[in-house]
Amino acid sequence: MSANLDWGNLGFGYIKTPYRYVADYKDGKWGEGKITEDDKVVLSECAGVLQYSQSAFEGLKAYTTRDGRIVTFRPDLNGERLENSAARLEMPVFPKEKFLEAVDMVVSANKEYVPPYGSGATLYIRPYMFGSSPVIGVKPAEEYQFRMFCTPVGPYFKGGVKPITIRVSDFDRAAPHGTGHIKAGLNYAMSLHAIVDAHKNGFDENMYLDPASRTYVEETGGANFLFITKDGKVVTPKSDSILPSITRRSLCYVAEHYLGLTVEHRPVKFSEVRDFAECGLCGTAAVISPVGKIYDHGNEICFPSGMNVMGPVTKKLYDTLTGIQAGNIPAPDGWIREIK
Ligand SMILES: *Cc1c(COP(=O)(O)O)cnc(C)c1O
Repeated sequence: MSANLDWGNLGFGYIKTPYRYVADYKDGKWGEGKITEDDKVVLSECAGVLQYSQSAFEGLKAYTTRDGRIVTFRPDLNGERLENSAARLEMPVFPKEKFLEAVDMVVSANKEYVPPYGSGATLYIRPYMFGSSPVIGVKPAEEYQFRMFCTPVGPYFKGGVKPITIRVSDFDRAAPHGTGHIKAGLNYAMSLHAIVDAHKNGFDENMYLDPASRTYVEETGGANFLFITKDGKVVTPKSDSILPSITRRSLCYVAEHYLGLTVEHRPVKFSEVRDFAECGLCGTAAVISPVGKIYDHGNEICFPSGMNVMGPVTKKLYDTLTGIQAGNIPAPDGWIREIK
């Protein structure tokens, strides 16, 4: 049974689905989590999350494979990353085994909302946790809530992939030794002004440079960079303040083990970027968004792949990873978790 939605015309917006998961942390331990129909969160006006932004989140997808199975892609890595985010924000760790159970329960309960194979749409899953008890003197909350809901979302590129134009930002995304490497809501709050300003000026995204020296490439507000050299190597920037994208890590594995490409994960100087042949942004939402042009204070870097199509190596990476996700190409062990 499938919900009566126009799968081909969904956007990337919130559509309420019937069930979500909730678990509370109280008296020093996590309670038994459960599925609920209640989509409302009722909080103290003084909750830690409302006063000092103590919150972290994740994002992953469930989809239908060609042979009709419902699967998620490497959800264990989302669980692990949320553990790291929680630890850095002095929140109690929600164990990754429980996280995986919650993913299974939420997707299973909302099965009719998993878009059919071939529609391009997916079920986006949003796990998150936050300090729920009152905090006025600056300290971690004593009580927390972990929640997970899901919402069907449309294909990222409607009517085909289109390369984007980005600009080098004058704002920073994350401080050296700060929270750039964890998926904290506060990183996104910081980036909102920069993205609104980028859009106002006709750019799709911001390229952030390292805040200490402004000479190395970091990432955009929500995706990691992947470059292809003229001799076909894959290069991804390395820095302690970059969020470790699961898509980027998976693409690097695919490049090396499926396509036989050389992969370099290393600091990347901005001055090198003009010499690359292709550029893309990696994240769960789009897998790879090709970048056609980078604008840097009056100078433009135009990649040879142009503004109409994905570069050839980027395309191979994209097709291989999405083929693995759709079940058309055999996946490495443990990458696909089937939901019963
Ligand atoms: C979530 C996120 C990404 C992408 O990570 P995926 O695991 O590939 O979805 C990249 N950068 C930032 C800042 C993020 O928050």
